[in-house]
Amino acid sequence: MRKHSLSFKAIRNLIRNDLMPDPTPSLTLHRRDDGIAELVFDRAGSAANIFDMPALDELDRHLETIENDASLRGLIVRSAKPAIFIAGADIKSLARETGDALEAFIGKGQRVFQRLADLKIPTAAAIHGACLGGGFEIALACDWRVASLSDATRIGLPETMLGILPAWGGSTRLPRLIGLPKALDLILAGKQVPPKLAKKLGLVDGLAPVERIVDLATGLLGKGKAVRKTPWLTNNPVSAAVIRAAAGRKIRAQTRGHYPAQLAALNVVSRAGSGPLAESLGREREEVLKLARTDAAKNLIRIFLLQENAKKTRPHPTAEARKVGRTAVIGAGVMGAGIAQWLAARGLPVVLRDLDDARLGAGMATIGKLFREGVKRRVFTPVEAMRASDLISPSAAPVPMDRVDLVIEAAVENLEIKKKIFADLSSRVSPETVLATNTSALPIGEIGHGDGVTHPERLVGVHFFNPVHRMKLVEIVVTEATSPGTIETALAFVRAIGKLPVVVKDSPGFVVNRILMPYLIEAGRLFERGVDPVAIDEAMLDFGMPMGPLRLLDEVGLDVASHVAATMGAAFGDRFAMPAVLAKLVEKGHLGRKSGRGFFEHRGKKTAPNAEALALRGEAAGDAPDRPAIAERLALLMANESFRVLEEGVAASADDIDFAMILGTGFAPFRGGPVTWANTVGLPVVREKLAALGETEGELFAPSKLLNGAADLGDLKKS
Ligand code: NAD
Repeated sequence: MRKHSLSFKAIRNLIRNDLMPDPTPSLTLHRRDDGIAELVFDRAGSAANIFDMPALDELDRHLETIENDASLRGLIVRSAKPAIFIAGADIKSLARETGDALEAFIGKGQRVFQRLADLKIPTAAAIHGACLGGGFEIALACDWRVASLSDATRIGLPETMLGILPAWGGSTRLPRLIGLPKALDLILAGKQVPPKLAKKLGLVDGLAPVERIVDLATGLLGKGKAVRKTPWLTNNPVSAAVIRAAAGRKIRAQTRGHYPAQLAALNVVSRAGSGPLAESLGREREEVLKLARTDAAKNLIRIFLLQENAKKTRPHPTAEARKVGRTAVIGAGVMGAGIAQWLAARGLPVVLRDLDDARLGAGMATIGKLFREGVKRRVFTPVEAMRASDLISPSAAPVPMDRVDLVIEAAVENLEIKKKIFADLSSRVSPETVLATNTSALPIGEIGHGDGVTHPERLVGVHFFNPVHRMKLVEIVVTEATSPGTIETALAFVRAIGKLPVVVKDSPGFVVNRILMPYLIEAGRLFERGVDPVAIDEAMLDFGMPMGPLRLLDEVGLDVASHVAATMGAAFGDRFAMPAVLAKLVEKGHLGRKSGRGFFEHRGKKTAPNAEALALRGEAAGDAPDRPAIAERLALLMANESFRVLEEGVAASADDIDFAMILGTGFAPFRGGPVTWANTVGLPVVREKLAALGETEGELFAPSKLLNGAADLGDLKKS
């Protein structure tokens, strides 16, 4: 008989690797001479402190040591990281774990934080940097909280943004600390607040420059355990019931039932103000476990992780990403002005070029308005705004460009004009300057082949979305000639200015406009056939889009949309033909919001269907589809175009498409993007529905090749 034996070394490795995975050390415990202990979070090999199961175990062991040390007179919780206190729970653990493992993780966090709250000695959190989710929940379990007066400091409970809720005591302790209305406001919107506002709201007891926060915390420990009055006026069961009912109505109207986390959080938070703490913690656990199983939470967590990925992925890790210091923007229109303002606000000097002083003046006026709005919203102080706008040098005459690291062209959408601009730039920039275009849909490779355009390897698309200061996505459009160094420089630049890049291939409309266009075209066709414009837009709001397609066309401008569609039509055929009603509206000068009338009449914030547009179309043909049918039909087109984009390699992966559509258009985030939506519906079902519609509606609905073969492709979510 064969003897089964394991060597000592094998047993030791088994224990080490399988039973006790080698944890990443996350914190240390120091005992100061004055009898105060300091728990210092400093996760090894990571820029951030986060809570995973080993980190919670470590914290638990240290708390046991503290409990057993009768000589201690206080505890301070702090971080050794330069700009992060604790960023929260490990989102990857949350995404990975299900069932019992997740329950154990949630339960462990609650028990450990309760152990901290139950310590006999006074405790204080000294917060500097991001203090979010679990990071703020550990601070809430302390008697006192102080924060640094630093731009890096942000405090909040953003869990509902991920489709879950604060379940390590945050949903319970926050309303008890600051009262129900303020706690709901923070938790339901997942707000992250700066230090001064945190103090005003009562999230922290004191503020100090970063080097003084530990002293400030030490001072507060001298007051002993904190004894606080509960905000009874708002938290008593009667007030809480009234607040809950009103907030519930508002959430249902805003989310149209798509975001269960908000209602679940409302349920837990509004009942947390009174009654036993343990019962409320029980509700936190119960609700978070239910939420974690929802598609909404899975999709929102995935999008969060894709955003994190977009901050660091390097397609050419060996290529040098050159630092961009000086910039130039060509064209001071809607986009040029928006881009110049954003760059200057991030401290980059910008040369802003346009054809004449009048146009430059209009651009500078737009920039001034953006800065004033920023001051109003407290994004900048007036002095910061002034300093930033001084970084912009407007010029109507050609200026030397040899010291500019990156030029962004945002002139009119006309291939010949763009070719001329790049030919002129080629002769005047330095051999290292990266040449970028913000074109929406023109073939960038062709711009690179224009007469007099040298070094096409330095030409790249850097496609911002409108309005620049709101939209986080930038498509980095790579032609066959673009060099790895140019790509890496463009990526690093986009990240440095706080935007999120996605790399796409040079093809008309790239990813976002390409997928959006069939959707907009079909909305126009439905309108033309007599479907009520309000019903079309409401259908997509019900689906979860931030704005209806006809309203979006009005915002973009019907002339601009027709132009983009024409470029795509030239490349992809009649599928991209705009309905005739659009041309008629443009002819009449009804261009959308900018002219006051398009599909709708725009009076300030009010809109109503434009009677003249309604009169341009024929009688309704047959039965008008109901709202769910309209939404499905329009979403099917976005999914189908996504598969075409994938099969042509315009996007590298389905992840990239979902990410770009959510960040670039606000595609219903809880649905996870057009490809994930199609997967949820089921690819064979999507194909059949498209084919059935295609029989009567023609080429626009013809299933893509990839979708036609998709029975074998299974889940297309990942690349
Ligand atoms: P716009 O018409 O508002 O502005 C274009 C500006 O470029 C004008 O001020 C014009 O005088 C100037 N210009 C024209 N020729 C020039 C030249 N040779 N040198 C310097 N300046 C010149 O256009 P926009 O909406 O800002 O669009 C600019 C670019 O950005 C286009 O390629 C467009 O497709 C793209 N884009 C637009 C949007 C959008 O929503 N508007 C979004 C993304 C990308």
